[in-house]
Amino acid sequence: MEDRVVLEELLQQSRAYSAKGKVADYIPELAKRAPNSLGITVHRIDREPVSAGDCGTSFTLQSISKVFSLILALMDQGEERIFNKVGMEPTGDNFNSMVKLELVNPGKPFNPMINAGAIAISSMIAGKTPDERFARLLAFIRTMAGDDTIAVNSNVYESEAATADRNRSLAYFLKHNQVLEGSVEDHLEVYFKHCSIEVTCRHIARMAMILANNGVDPESGQKLIPRRYVQIAKVFMITCGMYNASGEFAIQVGIPAKSGVSGGILAVVPGQMGIGVIGPALSEKGNSVAGVQLLQSLSARWDLSIF
Ligand code: GLU
Repeated sequence: MEDRVVLEELLQQSRAYSAKGKVADYIPELAKRAPNSLGITVHRIDREPVSAGDCGTSFTLQSISKVFSLILALMDQGEERIFNKVGMEPTGDNFNSMVKLELVNPGKPFNPMINAGAIAISSMIAGKTPDERFARLLAFIRTMAGDDTIAVNSNVYESEAATADRNRSLAYFLKHNQVLEGSVEDHLEVYFKHCSIEVTCRHIARMAMILANNGVDPESGQKLIPRRYVQIAKVFMITCGMYNASGEFAIQVGIPAKSGVSGGILAVVPGQMGIGVIGPALSEKGNSVAGVQLLQSLSARWDLSIF
């Protein structure tokens, strides 16, 4: 059956699941999103992308950006320096939790996918000023997505920057423990900005497709990311990419993925395809309810689990 027909059929079956979720509202600007919109793009390596549903709906990367800040920081600093500051283990706690920061391994965030780890990672992107660090990350994301017009949604950026007391407290705690160096506010600015980069499913499907292709852009033939760093990114996606539902997602869907509180999910089927999904209504654990359902049925239909 044609990809487009399968996507349409499974998307229609998954739509109703949005009613079980709720749009994130702790960043006030995110609360304005239509809860029951659902869209998907599948981008197979060396093929044209195929989409269904509300795939033109734009949304901000939020935590999906953590995968790319990590990759860029790894390319800038190398593994040793990165993992000296940030750990490699899942936490089982919420993405913005501070419990283990104080109790276990004081100051060292458990992994780059939780907020504390991602803020530390943002500070390690090369560049003299926050503007330069952010510009490098934006350029990298534009290249991965194949679109030079991608930009920050300034309403979301300002909304998050104005309400981020919890992220601020995490960041100051990191500074106290010498994980962050220099100006905390500068590092937060880079972090909030990369979370606020606005994309569609087509963009994240292409970014995922390049990860599925071991870091090589099949259009240009260019190696954008060393294979080793793609491997590291995929490991973090499997172990902590879906917040504290990562184990369940690995069992039910079985592919490396990263979700964000805007309802986006970027999923990588190694050697085959990248998938981008948007569905703003979230489960209690912070993942798109309809989006996860759609990925689950797609994985079953196409036998996508890597396990
Ligand atoms: N910008 C959001 C925050 O730091 C990202 C959270 C997420 O998508 O998990 O709270």
